[in-house]
Amino acid sequence: MSKETTNEPVTLSAFTHQEIQKMMAKEEEIAILLRKYALLNALAHDGKADKGAVVGRLMAERSDLRGESKRVSGIASSVVSEINGLDQSQQVSALQQEFPESLRSEIQRKKEQSKKDSEKGAELPELEDARIGEVVTRFPPEPNGFMHIGHTKAAILGSEYAKMYSGKFIMRFDDTNPSAEKREYYGAFIDDFAWLGITPDAIRNSSDDMDRFYVFAEKLIAVGKAYVCSCSQEKMRELRGKGEECKHRSQSVSENLNLWRKMISRQVGKSDATFRFHGDMKSLNTTMRDPVLFRIIDDPHPLLGNKYSVWPTYDFAGPVEDSLDGVTHAMRSKEYELRDQLYFEILKSLELREPKMIEFSRLKLQNTTLSKRNLKKFVEEKLVEGWDDPRLPTISALRRRGFLALAIRQFILSMGVSKVESEPTWDLLESFNRKLLDPIAKRYFFVPNPVKLKIANAPKVKVTLKYHPDENFGERSIDVGDSFFIPGDDADDLRIGSNARLIEAYNIQIAEKNNSVVKAKYIGEERVAEMPKLQWVCEEAAFPMKAKIPGPLLINDQFNPDSLRVVDGVAESAARQIQSGEIVQFVRFGFCRMDTPGIAIRTHS
Ligand code: ATP
Ligand code: MG
Repeated sequence: MSKETTNEPVTLSAFTHQEIQKMMAKEEEIAILLRKYALLNALAHDGKADKGAVVGRLMAERSDLRGESKRVSGIASSVVSEINGLDQSQQVSALQQEFPESLRSEIQRKKEQSKKDSEKGAELPELEDARIGEVVTRFPPEPNGFMHIGHTKAAILGSEYAKMYSGKFIMRFDDTNPSAEKREYYGAFIDDFAWLGITPDAIRNSSDDMDRFYVFAEKLIAVGKAYVCSCSQEKMRELRGKGEECKHRSQSVSENLNLWRKMISRQVGKSDATFRFHGDMKSLNTTMRDPVLFRIIDDPHPLLGNKYSVWPTYDFAGPVEDSLDGVTHAMRSKEYELRDQLYFEILKSLELREPKMIEFSRLKLQNTTLSKRNLKKFVEEKLVEGWDDPRLPTISALRRRGFLALAIRQFILSMGVSKVESEPTWDLLESFNRKLLDPIAKRYFFVPNPVKLKIANAPKVKVTLKYHPDENFGERSIDVGDSFFIPGDDADDLRIGSNARLIEAYNIQIAEKNNSVVKAKYIGEERVAEMPKLQWVCEEAAFPMKAKIPGPLLINDQFNPDSLRVVDGVAESAARQIQSGEIVQFVRFGFCRMDTPGIAIRTHS
């Protein structure tokens, strides 16, 4: 067949691979937005979304799509019919899982509580010498472990300040210690950033700049501010302690250059040479006593393999990178304070531009550790399930446990940039999260450590339970017989002759307790304020459900072997529909995120 048939309609092959990808990405983006608006519209209209309204909302938000109304309308038809095929409760689950923020703000808007500032958290104080459009900040994590809530403080402050001044925020992996970095940690940081809703303007690696570091190393030697030292570690430590110089310090520039080149061309053994700053061996700030700026590390680098064997320390790479990246305001936690002098002296010696340094207190959290090294130990020793074990303060663990990104942001911003050390409790973080979850979490009955309850004269009733006390999240009806499960702890507390209420059903009086069965009789339906209330599950409809309850990771700074409890329980039939990843409230038990089918993790009470 001839290839010259020019009148053929345009087929996909007429587009480049990139163009097709771009079109598909756009298609997907439109579908996601339509899905969000369809779900929200359904929520506001008793479960039925209106296609016209959904498309209208998209167009109002995205003027760039106005020329494409035909395409949008086509996608909207299928999205809206899919959403309208779900029942109300499934729609709420989908919203909560996929667009928790939108669900929450919709509810808030409806309640006319949309105080904008609650979204933003506390206002940050102005930065010194900051001009609109010119501020550049950065966050330099080392990819030697997973991101934890402490890093979040540095990352949120950096990105908020960049936003506040319409500037730029750079995420730069501080990856110049190949013996500690791992490829998976880069990806994990990027995923956690995305989940937290922090969008860097650029993502870079310090290791991209190795050749430039080497050029600056030679420059430092040339200006007499660095030398190659072959003292052993012990010797170095000893002389540092005494404030005494070693003989290598007085080598000539050419000698140093020669030794340095031997170092980088692998003619020197791993522990035979380091590259040191020519500081002040008598300085009261011991950081200035000729710190090591480059060392030989033989391990392969996760991104660069064996290309280099001489690696800069953070003391060197940090200031050089900040300067080259155009960082105007470098922020870091206060424990680096003593290193500031070195930071600026390196830049001065290299005649590089100096950013402003801003310090904030390192975040601590009670009963846990915010050190990747310690966390890694727990993971490697298998004391915990992995980096996302719900007991840990890593972002992946907090997400898995049911914390919302916005709660973490509000928690961080509520503490501001102060340099004052504080050690907030989990309660504070939980209180932000609870406020956000309460309006969006569906309610279910879960009975931990179940005990059987038999009602002698049980009426046959149909009980209707709403998925949310205030919101229109739908409801379910339960045919109630005479056998139930109630929580073991409550069963222990019930005394013969006392009364209790099965929530939303009726009141009972305890008649007998034996062999782990509680026997009771029906005594009416009227609500009585003081009566203890019990959640319940009908015996026939119960299905097994476990709940993992994370507790304090550390007690007196030691690993707490009882930090994770697992309780067996039963849940009501409707709970079968809770999807993995969905956050619900188990009445009288707490907020839980469904981890895998049949296993929930308690977020908090
Ligand atoms: P870790 O012991 O967790 O490795 P680190 O400070 O060495 O701590 P990095 O990955 O080097 O971890 O940290 C990147 C940035 O995050 C640093 O600028 C540091 O100031 C900041 N940071 C780390 N932990 C905290 C914390 N608990 N509170 C505030 N900022 C922190
Ligand atoms: Mg570090």
